[in-house]
Amino acid sequence: MQDGYKHKGLRKKLIQELREKGIQDEKILAAFDAVPRHFFLDLAFTEQAYTNMAFQIGAGQTISHPYTVAFQTDLLQVKKGDKILEIGTGSGFQTSILCALGAKVFSIERQKELFLKAKSIIHHFNFNPKLVFGDGYKGLPNFAPFDKVIITCGAPEIPEALLNQMKIGGVMVIPIGEGEKQLMKRITKVAEHEFNTEEFGVFSFVPMLENKTGH
Ligand code: SAH
Repeated sequence: MQDGYKHKGLRKKLIQELREKGIQDEKILAAFDAVPRHFFLDLAFTEQAYTNMAFQIGAGQTISHPYTVAFQTDLLQVKKGDKILEIGTGSGFQTSILCALGAKVFSIERQKELFLKAKSIIHHFNFNPKLVFGDGYKGLPNFAPFDKVIITCGAPEIPEALLNQMKIGGVMVIPIGEGEKQLMKRITKVAEHEFNTEEFGVFSFVPMLENKTGH
């Protein structure tokens, strides 16, 4: 896959669009410059990779809108060295943005096809996330606790196991709701069984599915 002047120019335009939509963190904008989004899309979508659109990535799933990725990343308040659990690797684009910010990323995907594809794409970069094929509802107890948890599919409710795998002071960003629309929430673990919840508007994700892995 090539990353030419044209792609770089389109990327600058997308970054400007993200800035205009309210993403101000220069580190996040720099991460969008460092991770070529067209690498994560089928060749047919290369031209449109830097528009604020979602695309099919196979197995009936979609890569999130760039603005949604930037917005969730912003809410997550990523610090260099943060240990982050992501549910829904999908294309691997969000995973790579978190890696570009210097986080140690663990990401779970329940579709075998996407897990394998993301693995081969991320291989092109100098990132080293731990990608896991499995059910995100269970989290990764062996690697817990995490500083941050990001869910990139619409969850019907907050998965209990994931709350347990957060550090005190840890933050979870999760779109909650069944059906087409979800409410973006940020949950901060203030004590072992005490959580603060903030709400950040309506988004649209593919559903978080339980107890099954697809091939
Ligand atoms: N972060 C991704 C978004 C992909 S869409 C990106 O940047 O491309 C959400 C993904 O969540 C889909 O690939 C879907 O298969 C996955 N998913 C849904 N339920 C899941 C679960 N229980 N465990 C792990 N992944 C899940």
